[in-house]
Amino acid sequence: QGDSDEGIDYMFKIVMVGDSGVGKSQLLNRFVKNEFHMKSKPTIGVEFLTRTLVMDHKLVKAQIWDTAGQERYQAITTAYYRGAIGALLAYDITKQQTFDHVEKWLDELRIHADRNILVMLVGNKSDLSSLRAVPVEVAREFAQQEGLFFLETSALDSSNVESAFVGLLSQVYRTVS
Ligand code: GDP
Ligand code: MG
Repeated sequence: QGDSDEGIDYMFKIVMVGDSGVGKSQLLNRFVKNEFHMKSKPTIGVEFLTRTLVMDHKLVKAQIWDTAGQERYQAITTAYYRGAIGALLAYDITKQQTFDHVEKWLDELRIHADRNILVMLVGNKSDLSSLRAVPVEVAREFAQQEGLFFLETSALDSSNVESAFVGLLSQVYRTVS
């Protein structure tokens, strides 16, 4: 990134998790660069992107880790999770299987990251409502039972992307400040 940490009051490590193809990289692209690409290329060599926000008159730097697509073929390494204080766990509202795998991702997080990690569950691709497979009420109830925050998002039309990341970061901020 090249930007210094001068003046930064808090640095939070956040990890993106969820099945391959659900839109993790594009959600991050949208949040950090306000960009979206239909043909998503794996982020080679880049482990994380950062964005600095002001919260409560404090400078909060979010260091958000994205996978290089390895979740498709192999396990994510423990280094990825180390020190993470929050996670954005994404599924695709048009693919039931990606929602069924949310529990597996929660187990991964609870094993490899902090047990008390804060999780924002995100049902992405809300722009594809005609192809919806996962009802919003089902996801909301699941999130409530598991103690997760929940929003449906679209990296394509931007809806709720800012709210999902900023919502997670403000909850993290509340727990550490
Ligand atoms: P990742 O494997 O979870 O990182 O998923 P990507 O971010 O690479 O996205 C996978 C595919 O879904 C790409 O073709 C994206 O353009 C597409 N995609 C991502 N987010 C959205 C979205 O909100 N709506 C739609 N319609 N497509 C999306
Ligand atoms: Mg990706």
